[in-house]
Amino acid sequence: MAAENAVRTNLLGLPPEELEAFVVGLGEKPFRARQLLTWIYKRRIGDFEQMTDLGKDLRARLSAVAEVRAPEIVTEHVSADGTRKWLLRAGRSDNREQAIEAVFIPELGRGTLCISSQVGCALDCSFCSTGAQGFNRNLSTAEIVGQVWLANQRLGVGPAGERAITNIVLMGMGEPLANYRAVLPALRIFMADHCFDVSRRRVTLSTSGLVPQIYRLAEDTNVALAVSLHAPNDALRDQLVPINRRHPIAELLESCWHYLDAQNGRSITFEYVMLDGVNDHLSHARELVKLLVGHDAKVNMIPFNPFPGTAYRRSKPEAIAAFRDYLNVHGVTATVRRTRGDDIDAACGQLAGRVHDRTLVRLGSKMISVGVEA
Ligand code: SAH
Ligand code: SF4
Repeated sequence: MAAENAVRTNLLGLPPEELEAFVVGLGEKPFRARQLLTWIYKRRIGDFEQMTDLGKDLRARLSAVAEVRAPEIVTEHVSADGTRKWLLRAGRSDNREQAIEAVFIPELGRGTLCISSQVGCALDCSFCSTGAQGFNRNLSTAEIVGQVWLANQRLGVGPAGERAITNIVLMGMGEPLANYRAVLPALRIFMADHCFDVSRRRVTLSTSGLVPQIYRLAEDTNVALAVSLHAPNDALRDQLVPINRRHPIAELLESCWHYLDAQNGRSITFEYVMLDGVNDHLSHARELVKLLVGHDAKVNMIPFNPFPGTAYRRSKPEAIAAFRDYLNVHGVTATVRRTRGDDIDAACGQLAGRVHDRTLVRLGSKMISVGVEA
């Protein structure tokens, strides 16, 4: 019932201290919040009536004013390699359904969930299918956390009670730092002991380079940072990642090194999409070494994943290998990301969801800040 839902607080949007304040606001003792968290995150139960140690009266009051609601599944696909992709409802706009995507990637000894932070993206990187969709809106904290909660429920636990999701990456649809206000509490919920309890090393935020927000992030949290560099000079990066015209490479790298200083001893991963004939020449590798050598930086090369309508092609395997070897030989650790789930369009950059009624903003030289929270 939409009207009722509108006034209920979705508890998936509240970090532990806010949940405690909420419970105290209902006239309850703070320890009730701990009990609620255990039900929601450890037992994966969202129905208050099943929370038997809460007392009948509290259960009834919670049902009236609160809810635990994850986004609804539109479709679920399983790839031949075990990768799973969910298309999730993100409300209606202009009378049409909006949807976002989350992807689970199982590997030996770990399981990574890749989640979305926005419906679409305003940053318009030229090689990205999400960017090509345009921007509709920011997700709420509850919608961001709800993707993990839902995937956890769908995936269940292993025979010895081990959890399927060991790592969370904000590398799905959207630019997480453009939705800072909702993303930061979500990061807290991922890491809190009483919630998902994922270690900070296993939570990665990927950004295309919103410099002021990288400084802010250094103050507020200590998750692993991945930065979408994709080009070793401003002329090329201006074309591939338009936000570069606002925050050029030198400024971006300075914010990255600051982030590292504030974290003591972590490295930053620089993502580099491999585009045939565009950014994959050895001269580009040489420039990249100059930028990164001597810093705690790793390069993660992503073979370009094509999507309908794109003019780019994936670099040839020999070019990818030569680029990687050049970096490694010259003192910059580089790895190539294995493509997963491409048979179900779940690979990096293929997440398109369904974005309608979008405010198509081109963040070029005359930048408009729609969709990018200051
Ligand atoms: N907006 C954030 C996070 C989402 S994109 C960011 O840009 O970092 C996650 C990664 O996939 C980024 O490095 C992005 O540049 C990359 N990517 C986007 N489109 C791609 C494509 N078609 N093929 C391969 N990687 C792509
Ligand atoms: Fe947005 Fe990231 Fe895609 Fe660029 S690569 S358009 S920032 S989602």
